[in-house]
Amino acid sequence: NTDLELIALTKRYGGTVAVDAIAHHFKTGVYACLLGPSGCGKSSTLRMIAGHESVSDGSVVLGGRDISHLAPAKRGTAMMFQNYALFPHLSVRDNVAFSLRMAGEDKPTRDKRAMEMLELVEMTALADRIPDQLSGGQQQRVALARALITRPQVLLLDEPLSALDPFLRIRMRAELKRLQRELGISFIHVTHGQDEALALADEIIVMNNAKIEQAGPAREVFNSP
Ligand code: ADP
Ligand code: ADP
Repeated sequence: NTDLELIALTKRYGGTVAVDAIAHHFKTGVYACLLGPSGCGKSSTLRMIAGHESVSDGSVVLGGRDISHLAPAKRGTAMMFQNYALFPHLSVRDNVAFSLRMAGEDKPTRDKRAMEMLELVEMTALADRIPDQLSGGQQQRVALARALITRPQVLLLDEPLSALDPFLRIRMRAELKRLQRELGISFIHVTHGQDEALALADEIIVMNNAKIEQAGPAREVFNSP
């Protein structure tokens, strides 16, 4: 069981309530899209799940374990950001292996695991390049491999496709879906594009004004009044 439960999850920044006691149960292996207007609390929600932002109230439970106060690396989650945040001076291989280096793995193990991850995203041929020598789509694959190398049970994606041109965006959608199916883990993907949510999601969660307004299968969410 790697279900993810949000229980009365709340984020306050001073007087602003950015996330207001939301509750949701993500089933293992779901592709969920978190949809809603700018400022409604999507990123804050994702960052609280990942542990990049503290929880003001409520909790995040993964596989029955309360992870609300654990360090990001100890949660079984990983996050991929909009701008990829790759290290410019490190090779693709070393970027992907970075978290393993932090965890104290030896070099042969790091290299082997990094190459496995690069294989998964079809980037082994470019392992020795630096990020500057890659296209936007290729950088994004590297960022994915880097997030997945920690073997997360839940991958969190904050508008991962918004920096790509429209053609590449469509291609990367298929790529994300393939990866998610192949790995059998949950993806929680923040977007403000309805078409993107419709193309990707098993389940859509609509946020508005710091609350969950609607949640369900894509067809239901878009067909309801
Ligand atoms: P979204 O991802 O849906 O655009 P956010 O979670 O980024 O929404 O923001 C929700 C609300 O919280 C907004 O009003 C935003 O201005 C505010 N907010 C987000 N991050 C911070 C912060 N670090 N400090 C203060 N306010 C913040
Ligand atoms: P985006 O529009 O790309 O989602 P955000 O508005 O969510 O970007 O914010 C980007 C960064 O700025 C985040 O780290 C967030 O915490 C911070 N931030 C957002 N709103 C505020 C705010 N009102 N006060 C302080 N920091 C904020």
